Amino acid sequence: MSIGTCSDERQASPLAGLTEAVLACRACQEAGFLQRANPIRPAVLDDARMVLIGQAPGPVTDRKGYHFAGPAGTFLSAWLDRAGFPAGYFREHVYLSSLTRCFPGKSASGNGDRQPSTAEIGLCRHFLDWELEGLNPRVVLLVGKMAIDAFLGKQPLERTVGRVFSVHGRVFVPLPHASGVSRWLNTPAHRALLDQALGELSRLRVELNL
Ligand code: SF4
Repeated sequence: MSIGTCSDERQASPLAGLTEAVLACRACQEAGFLQRANPIRPAVLDDARMVLIGQAPGPVTDRKGYHFAGPAGTFLSAWLDRAGFPAGYFREHVYLSSLTRCFPGKSASGNGDRQPSTAEIGLCRHFLDWELEGLNPRVVLLVGKMAIDAFLGKQPLERTVGRVFSVHGRVFVPLPHASGVSRWLNTPAHRALLDQALGELSRLRVELNL
């Protein structure tokens, strides 16, 4: 799939108008979920080969203004290296997105970031559907339990990470949360599941010429 960067190509793209619509969105602020909506600008890639969907922007992404600008991006890029993708592939060929596009703020306990509510995810979902319809990716990486649950139904991470799921001709690859503070990966058995998931991704890289 190819997403042009010049204005003529953007006009012809099924994602034309997405950036403006996202940046103008204040739905969660107007509904009282956010004090200040600050949507992250959608990516524009010349050659997007996969779509990656995370939970929500973190504070670094909120500050810098592009998806996965913080530690999670560093981890995910390293995971793709481990799956045999060439250096730079993460930023050049993976269309990065998330269930919601505004930093939800810190959790009430002050321990980590607040998870977006079901209502916020619902308000933001049409942007994600627009991207998936426009890009029509063969492979979608789902990062973290919330993103996995949104597409594959609620189930423990242990039942999804390490496997691939084919739904209506699209392959979904679940991955754990990649923030670097995820305790899930402290368990050797869970790290083995991540290895398995990256092995599956490596297999898809070759089979689908990603
Ligand atoms: S999270 Fe999504 S729906 Fe909510 S204000 Fe931000 S862009 Fe709009």
